[in-house]
Amino acid sequence: MPELPEVETIARGLALDLTEATICGVRLLEPGSLSTGPGTLTREAFLAEVPGSRVLGVRRRAKVLLLDLSSAGWSLLHLAFHLRMTGRLTMEPPGTDPRPHTRLVFDLTDGRHLFFADVRKFGWCRAMPPEGLAHWMFWTSLGPEPLEISADGFADLFQGRRGRVKALLLNQKFIAGIGNIYADESLFRAGIRPDATAVSVSRARLKRLHGQLVEVLREAIAANGSSISDYVNARGDAGAFQNDFRVYGRAGLACRNCQTPLAKGTVAGRTTVFCPKCQR
Ligand SMILES: [Zn+2]
Repeated sequence: MPELPEVETIARGLALDLTEATICGVRLLEPGSLSTGPGTLTREAFLAEVPGSRVLGVRRRAKVLLLDLSSAGWSLLHLAFHLRMTGRLTMEPPGTDPRPHTRLVFDLTDGRHLFFADVRKFGWCRAMPPEGLAHWMFWTSLGPEPLEISADGFADLFQGRRGRVKALLLNQKFIAGIGNIYADESLFRAGIRPDATAVSVSRARLKRLHGQLVEVLREAIAANGSSISDYVNARGDAGAFQNDFRVYGRAGLACRNCQTPLAKGTVAGRTTVFCPKCQR
């Protein structure tokens, strides 16, 4: 599942390719891929309002990608995308036909297309005016961004908590954007067992975890993210950070620090890989 570095990579690519572009048509090929409900545009309003709008910018918050549009009906309109398991957002050259799993197509006045594809159909697009975004519970309850919070702010979040450190890292309301890959990788780098309770970890080690988390996220963004199964960037290219994993997907293999076989367990319901010697 794409996490912070993968969504950030897609957002940066789309910001270069889409900013100032004008959308002239929308094709909703899978109605279920448009999420509607309180605070969102109806399907009819979405299909009527988005054509003719201009892309003001592309940004990321947690694992959500946001397109800010200027439309005629609404001065500002937000399109939020969540890729979930298998979603992809790619720029396609003029004349590209939708592929079997393409769910939503945005046609641009210059002939290019933005494709939202999703094999398993868990991902979604949601169109909202600013007041809809401001009152969207999912959005307003997101925790701080790990690349923006200070080491002290991060330690304040965790210090004294009885939950397991990994469970807290995965909780989007606690801290945003981290999934199984970057939780396991940052805990390994920080030398902290994933099943340790936050209250048992010293403030100095929590600050070290923040430093290692920031480092691994920045390295992953620089490598265009990690491609395990479906993830590609906005140009359709795979990421390379999966080649640098130290623990994720490496259960039973030798620890890159100490050669001890890496152990596998379950924390917060998720498969967890760690080094029993390096992580305490
Ligand atoms: Zn080790």
